[in-house]
Amino acid sequence: MARNIYTEEHHIFRNAVRKYVQNELAPYLDEWEERSEIPRSVWKGLGDQGFLCPWLDEEYGGSGVGFEYSVIINEELCRMMMAFLTFGLHSDMIAPYIDSFGSVPQKRRWLPGCASGDKVLAIAMTEPGTGSDLQAIRTRAVKDGDSYVLNGQKTLISNGRSCDLAIIACKTDPKAIPAYKGISLLVVEEGTPGFTKGQKLKKMGIHCWDTAELFFEDCMVPRENLLGEEDHGFQYLMQKLQQERLVCSIQAQVGAEAMLDLTVRYCKEREAFGKPIGELEHNTFKLAEMATEVEIGRTFLNDLIAEHIEGLDILKKVSMAKWWIGEMANRVAYHCVQLHGGYGYIEEYAICRWYRDIRTSTIFAGTSEIMKKIIGKELGF
Ligand SMILES: Cc1cc2nc3c(=O)[nH]c(=O)nc-3n(C[C@H](O)[C@H](O)[C@H](O)COP(=O)(O)OP(=O)(O)OC[C@H]3O[C@@H](n4cnc5c(N)ncnc54)[C@H](O)[C@@H]3O)c2cc1C
Repeated sequence: MARNIYTEEHHIFRNAVRKYVQNELAPYLDEWEERSEIPRSVWKGLGDQGFLCPWLDEEYGGSGVGFEYSVIINEELCRMMMAFLTFGLHSDMIAPYIDSFGSVPQKRRWLPGCASGDKVLAIAMTEPGTGSDLQAIRTRAVKDGDSYVLNGQKTLISNGRSCDLAIIACKTDPKAIPAYKGISLLVVEEGTPGFTKGQKLKKMGIHCWDTAELFFEDCMVPRENLLGEEDHGFQYLMQKLQQERLVCSIQAQVGAEAMLDLTVRYCKEREAFGKPIGELEHNTFKLAEMATEVEIGRTFLNDLIAEHIEGLDILKKVSMAKWWIGEMANRVAYHCVQLHGGYGYIEEYAICRWYRDIRTSTIFAGTSEIMKKIIGKELGF
């Protein structure tokens, strides 16, 4: 039987988030896309509402609530615009590293700003030479007195321009065998000498989400900025990537739902050959197929969310969700544009943006191929 994780309180909270998104964010979407940035005041506004890191303990500025609240926030934000996943990235994918592996002084120093929107977070694994093969990173940190000297380059980093704190995956033991045993996580703060940010990378979609390269040249990072234990970074990443992939699956699912909704509406209004285009049998079947796939995605996802909240191991299933829902959302995008005819190709129509934006769902946070590799491994291959 499908688990129901939501109570009346959750529904009230969902309505409040939805209202906030509609009134305070939606009117400015086009402007932010045009300017290729989300102003810092938006982060602060979300922080004031308690919509950033709601799960954090109250002593660190959060509300101490369950993951269901993060799901609701991500669903309501991403239903409006995929680029709003940037807030989920900050709250539910990156801040948990500091909360789980940070020392008490680190938490006191950084987490309240994460909850208030004063500190924007990034996480940097990908490098020009390697993405999927994380063990092959070359960014290097060498101990020198009270510091690590960090040298290397990262790319495709979300919040790369706007971040105040970036968690950097780097090699502290390049000779380690196997190689993943030599990776650590260092928190680099904006303004640290030797840390520079590249220009925003021009992307196919999610334009208002800043994605950039990061450079480290003899960057002196205080040793007290090491997260957790030295050389344990890979295992921390493997642990936290599960929730990251779950949030990405949530975003892809709400994207598919949003695209289907607006296409069903369009197919009822637009007429051809004397009737709404949705009544042409081929199109009815296409909509029926998409509605079925979207429903399957939702059922699988809700079950997975409940398992994650129960604390079960979701490695195999979250890899399935990230792969299948990401690909399904892209199939839905393709057919929804087709059903919009020429207007599907026009910027003014929301489906056009969705089509561009959803493309990355099968790429970031681990590609579909890497997800299948994990599923295969879980099957014993
Ligand atoms: C919008 C966006 C935001 C991003 N944000 C971040 C971020 O904040 N932080 C960060 O660290 N990274 C980020 N990334 C990078 C992203 O995680 C990588 O692009 C992704 O992991 C793939 O790595 P790659 O691009 O180097 O591709 P590669 O690893 O070079 O892969 C290229 C192709 O080969 C396939 N492939 C690779 N290995 C295998 C294999 N073993 N078997 C079969 N096929 C394989 C891949 O699936 C892919 O199709 C972001 C990317 C995008 C597009």
